[in-house]
Amino acid sequence: MTIRAIFYDAGHTLVRPRPEVDEVWDFLAHQLGVTIDAGQRGPFPDVAAFFYSRLGEDGLGAYASDAAARAFWSEYYAYALRDVAPGLPRAELLTAGSAMFDWYNDPAQWQPFPEALDALRAAKARGLVQGVVSDWGTDLLPILHAHEITRLMDFVVASAVVGSSKPHREIFLYALGRAGVAAREAVYVGDSYLADVLGSRAAGLHPVLIDREGAAPPIDAPVVRALTDVLDVVDRIDGARA
Ligand SMILES: [Mg+2]
Repeated sequence: MTIRAIFYDAGHTLVRPRPEVDEVWDFLAHQLGVTIDAGQRGPFPDVAAFFYSRLGEDGLGAYASDAAARAFWSEYYAYALRDVAPGLPRAELLTAGSAMFDWYNDPAQWQPFPEALDALRAAKARGLVQGVVSDWGTDLLPILHAHEITRLMDFVVASAVVGSSKPHREIFLYALGRAGVAAREAVYVGDSYLADVLGSRAAGLHPVLIDREGAAPPIDAPVVRALTDVLDVVDRIDGARA
């Protein structure tokens, strides 16, 4: 049995946000009608850490619907803004966060990583089934389509469409059904250890972590620095079985 399919996470695996940090601060300042000066414009809080902090609440279902995804990001931006406009009611911060969620649903705010399309073409040329399995709202499809990713994919599974988000097994099993392959015939590539590596492994797939910065600690899964290295991992898995 050999690898017959590669599934990909979307955010920070295939595509990255285009706006610079200052643009995001400008957007929020404009939404709130306040001035946010340079001293207040730090980096935004780590999204993964915020996600983890909510695991005891509804974090694991954060992308199971458009409404849940909007709520997650509204809360995230309200949290990021908590010290910036202390006089403003929380409802206004949530509204600005919700507007930001809409802003990021515009394909123009996203761009593929430089090597992504080449890597997808190479895997497609090998005859591998390819799919996106992403924690995302229903706007994922037009975003990927605008950047010519969908034509290299056999399908796109967005959590808000199927009603299940990573790291739960259901979304991976759904994708396996779409691909018509067994779990052990599929590789899953993503940038999140919890959602992508642990989630896909729990569903029986072969996880691969993409770590473009080389910043991840040693982990119990193959790590690649670029999508163009994923086929080498596929070869190693196939070779180990031969
Ligand atoms: Mg990701």
